[in-house]
Amino acid sequence: MEKKRIYLSSPTMHGEEQKFVEEAFATNWVAPLGPNVNSLEKEICDYTGSKAAAALSAGTAAIHLALKLLEIKEGDIIFVSDLTFSATVNPICYEKATPVFIDSERDTWNMDPVALEKAFEKYPNPKAVVCVHLYGTPAKLQEITTICEKHGVPLIEDAAESLSATYQGKQTGTFGKFGIYSFNGNKIITSSGGGMLISEDEKMIEKARFLSTQARDAARHYQHSHIGYNYRMSNIVAGIGRGQLLHLEEHKHKKQKIYQEYQEAFSDIKEITMNPMNPEGESNCWLSCLLLAEGCQVEPNKIMDVLEEENIESRPIWKPMHLQPVFEAYDCITAEGSIKDREKIESGHIITVGEDIFNRGLCLPSDIKNTKEDMEKIISLIRSLF
Ligand SMILES: *Cc1c(COP(=O)(O)O)cnc(C)c1O
Repeated sequence: MEKKRIYLSSPTMHGEEQKFVEEAFATNWVAPLGPNVNSLEKEICDYTGSKAAAALSAGTAAIHLALKLLEIKEGDIIFVSDLTFSATVNPICYEKATPVFIDSERDTWNMDPVALEKAFEKYPNPKAVVCVHLYGTPAKLQEITTICEKHGVPLIEDAAESLSATYQGKQTGTFGKFGIYSFNGNKIITSSGGGMLISEDEKMIEKARFLSTQARDAARHYQHSHIGYNYRMSNIVAGIGRGQLLHLEEHKHKKQKIYQEYQEAFSDIKEITMNPMNPEGESNCWLSCLLLAEGCQVEPNKIMDVLEEENIESRPIWKPMHLQPVFEAYDCITAEGSIKDREKIESGHIITVGEDIFNRGLCLPSDIKNTKEDMEKIISLIRSLF
């Protein structure tokens, strides 16, 4: 018999989602707008404390529109987290702008403020900074926002993974000029697919709604003076999102409990540490990750193989963007400066902090439906290797 699949992070539905969807059917609001869309925007604002929100078809669409609203053009330099999912970077390339990757620090695995400051030495005029809160753990926002303000550069927070995580008591996503969330299938809550753009600037969010619905001018006939997009969230999708939002806090607590269980279970194995928390904030623990000690005999791939044999899903750490074939032409800045420059001088491959985490790390199954038995099984399989 096939062993039960244990997932990394799969959708967890509760019933209310269906109620909102049924309501949409009953009222024939089966459209890329409608009462659920408006309500989800309001509810996200209420939850995060943000002033305005635009519900969109994906988190990636939200990043793209944030860049459009900042009028990013061909050749503009954008500083962006190196250790992330490619969706953070792709919209920069849609606009033919130039990403410059910023290495991670070891304290939270997020954008290193030292490397960010360093990046301004080589590229003094970036048009935006895109900072990710990896695996739900807030970046060093105090330092990052200070640097952005000092240089007068707008910050976009890619909070796709960190909805419900806070920094100094405030929701991630609300620190930048724009914040984005994702409701993709494996995120902490899902609408089956979708995203949200948030900002304190209501005019900008109004403009995002305009651009996301094909940029129709206010005229009876179809008139256009801008290039538009079909990026609006559907009313069905928003219904699922509304039902999920009712359970966001519960999901967060369950995710945090999974992290604590792993942390306690591996506390006596000196080769294993868990992904670091930010003491200035509260992580939503979207994915629990482990990091193996330098020189550890067990490799992340070995752990993945052992889990996969038992039909348990795990995943490598995101492969850093500067190591991706599609982005290899672009520069990456570490705390010690540009790796392109350093590799010329030191004539050899520079291993960034992000690459080191990628080499030694692993994402553990973090599904909130995991039972006590599932967790025990995962833990004992991993423990048996040490
Ligand atoms: C999931 C994710 C996105 C993309 O969100 P979609 O809703 O899937 O488009 C962007 N950035 C990060 C860091 C993500 O994890």
